[in-house]
Amino acid sequence: MTVTTVAPVVTTATDRPTQVRCNAITKAFSNDTFALRGIDLHCPAGAITVLLGPSGCGKTTLLRCIAGLETPSDGNIHLGHRDVTHLDPRARGVAMVFQNYGLYPNKSAYGNIEYPLRRARVPKKQRQARIEHVANMLRITHLLDRKPAQLSGGQRQRVGIGRALVREPAVLLMDEPLSSLDAELRVSMRTELRALQRKLGTTMVYVTHDQAEALALADQLVVLRDGHIEQIGEPAEVFTSPSTTFVAGFLGAMNLLEAQPLNLPPGTVGIRPEDLIRGTSPGDLTLSGPVVDTDLTGTERLVHFRCGQQTARIRIRADEPVPTEITAHVRADRIHHFDTDGNRIGER
Ligand code: ATP
Repeated sequence: MTVTTVAPVVTTATDRPTQVRCNAITKAFSNDTFALRGIDLHCPAGAITVLLGPSGCGKTTLLRCIAGLETPSDGNIHLGHRDVTHLDPRARGVAMVFQNYGLYPNKSAYGNIEYPLRRARVPKKQRQARIEHVANMLRITHLLDRKPAQLSGGQRQRVGIGRALVREPAVLLMDEPLSSLDAELRVSMRTELRALQRKLGTTMVYVTHDQAEALALADQLVVLRDGHIEQIGEPAEVFTSPSTTFVAGFLGAMNLLEAQPLNLPPGTVGIRPEDLIRGTSPGDLTLSGPVVDTDLTGTERLVHFRCGQQTARIRIRADEPVPTEITAHVRADRIHHFDTDGNRIGER
């Protein structure tokens, strides 16, 4: 377990929301290992910026640079108007929640949450009130006497979140904080986190590789790939107008098909499974072929079917019988077009 904590020193509930700016951040771990390749990023004050991308794309490294746990090889970082690039983590006024909690094993849950308030010399009565409030919100009031070893992974994670939130920090950095929770708690926790962030007005930078979590939480969504920003924007905009085939495939599992076998200009066409409608319709693009596989996703089933040499997926209701053949059509204005380099062509 990584026991790294960033105890905020200067943040208080009265701090104003703080914007985060990363200018041309590069991070090389060795001559040929570049984790970040020139990141320019503005995280607006009081908003949730989500860093999304596959394993190894640089999400954690960027968050650790903002926290001060890594020093960029090049570029600079501003929190509010302060250049913090070379500042000690403790002097930055950020709180960070790690995937690995980093709780003090000898302190109770209460003691862990209380610790940053003690360090900041918050009076006892105020400490109690704030801990009670946070514990109530995170549904851990009944666990406050327990030591970390007596808690489940999910409960420990909630204590870790509580410890960061209790300071009501100006900038809250979260690295996959919900990943150890069960699916149901994960969904309710993200709703609570968002409500809480709205209430506190905290600037949040949140790392995840879970696209559903990213779409649900983000005010600004940043898709990272190989150490660079592939696309940045409001989540709905990134989802509806992915700028590259990488984003299209990563977010919402779009069907990406070679355009020429479909008698379209060279490049790739993107079709979301939910935009495919069974049957045919004049003027629409039709795809048809035998069913080769199915995935049950809950109330729906994702049916994989061949179209020529390629495979596409369509959603059908889970209680429908699985057909042996699919014929489906898609409206021209629902088709995404990408050039041979994978870049979006034209407006949606
Ligand atoms: P994950 O979702 O798997 O946590 P990530 O997107 O957070 O991945 P990073 O942890 O930021 O990715 O790593 C980015 C790249 O930098 C990876 O190729 C990783 O191997 C490399 N890297 C990270 N930390 C170090 C280190 N301390 N030394 C050398 N290489 C590193």
